Amino acid sequence: MDKLLRTLIEDGQVSLVAIDSTEMVRHAQIIHNLTEASARVFGRILTVMSYMSCWLKGEHSELSVNFKHHGETGEVCVSGDGNLYMRGYVYNPFAQNEEIGKGYMTVVRDDNYKRPFVGTCEMVSKDVDENFEYYYRLSEQLPTYIRTGVSFDEHGLCQRAGGIFLQPMPGASDIAKQSAKLAADDFSAFSERLKDKAACDLFKEYFSVDATEERDIEYRCRCSREYIAGVLTSMGKAELDEIIRAEGKINVHCHYCNSDYDFFEEDLEELFQNQTPDGDTD
Ligand SMILES: [Zn+2]
Repeated sequence: MDKLLRTLIEDGQVSLVAIDSTEMVRHAQIIHNLTEASARVFGRILTVMSYMSCWLKGEHSELSVNFKHHGETGEVCVSGDGNLYMRGYVYNPFAQNEEIGKGYMTVVRDDNYKRPFVGTCEMVSKDVDENFEYYYRLSEQLPTYIRTGVSFDEHGLCQRAGGIFLQPMPGASDIAKQSAKLAADDFSAFSERLKDKAACDLFKEYFSVDATEERDIEYRCRCSREYIAGVLTSMGKAELDEIIRAEGKINVHCHYCNSDYDFFEEDLEELFQNQTPDGDTD
């Protein structure tokens, strides 16, 4: 199981997080059939979003990012929740170039009790981490050092994925800020670092610390046949009958996990038989 390790260093003045996202990124690469370039962009965004999601207060709070840019991967969307269940998709799974192009990043945080928070910023770099660092500088007015990477085996499959995150707390001394920056500098070219060691091992060895908090991370889509059936019934039977007449079946594709759900005439009969009079299938 992938892990997120968290602790404080520099006398409690700097938050340090390490993420081992190997299984999540490998799974994502397989289900979305991604080239190395697409897997690296997607994997690094999945890893940063796991970090950002670990600060969510409620387990049902949800965080999403949309990387809308003109690079070869095209649009990349990733969502995560307070349980660190992550999911997403890449517009172009076949990209050969991992550079982020011109465009915008939009972050949406939904805490389920008031209007969602939406933050947008321009892409300022061809590098995933640098764009997120810029986002943090704008939104939190705090420097946050983000180092993520994905390494590959000889078959082009994700060998390791992960990241190291350093964030000086508000009021941190200049010395603490400086040492966070120096540590981050030591972890540049993170994909190379991952060829030898997982991020969580780097955390323990480089910083000589133990985690005060350890959490599981998992690639998990929210879709299910029941969920899709609920969405379909809300469309009304007449419209669905028309699709069945034209296509012979209703096919629903989930972009997040690349699953297909097929509904035939007899499935519809069953759905609408079970439906309660107020139209609510739950
Ligand atoms: Zn799905």
